[in-house]
Amino acid sequence: MSVNDTPSGENDREGGGSSAASLLPSLFPERTPMTPPQLAAGVEAALAVQRRAVAFGKRPFAAVLLGPDNETVLLSHQSVDQVNHAESSLARLAYCHYDKAFLWRCTLVSTWEPCGMCTATIYWAHIGRIVFAGSNDQLYELTGPGNKENFTMNWHTRDVLKGCPQKDIEVIGPLEAEGKTVVEESDKYWSRTRRSSG
Ligand SMILES: [Zn+2]
Repeated sequence: MSVNDTPSGENDREGGGSSAASLLPSLFPERTPMTPPQLAAGVEAALAVQRRAVAFGKRPFAAVLLGPDNETVLLSHQSVDQVNHAESSLARLAYCHYDKAFLWRCTLVSTWEPCGMCTATIYWAHIGRIVFAGSNDQLYELTGPGNKENFTMNWHTRDVLKGCPQKDIEVIGPLEAEGKTVVEESDKYWSRTRRSSG
């Protein structure tokens, strides 16, 4: 059955036979799988940006864009403020610099799990893979409730992408060892801003 034969819009969204990749294969070139050393190096590159951001008074969030070789850092971005997050800012920048087919083979590596806004921006920027070290649940524990520097959301990256058959963006994370490092380093900032639990 072709898309045009589908009796209702619901069926072609769930049937799997009309994904964007099958209709526009040139925009979905094959991606090279990431190795564990490449994952670790990517997170370390993002963490270096995060350390610099915190030194300049910013919140501990940062991301880098890796090229199709999974190693070359093409762009990086820190969190600017509460509406200009590291990942969405980086995704917009990436889309200005590169075309869709190239970005599909790239990876956005973030120290923390991208929020709903950032995940959606990465989706629209057509970046083919997301890697994150610390989870949103871990972030909520660090920031605590009522933290004016970050009212952490309760959405997960996979929640935002779930059920969308158009693009199979690969999501890798949280990462246990790298996440532990990110949590420890980020807590130096959040421990100063969260409300006392006692
Ligand atoms: Zn975000």
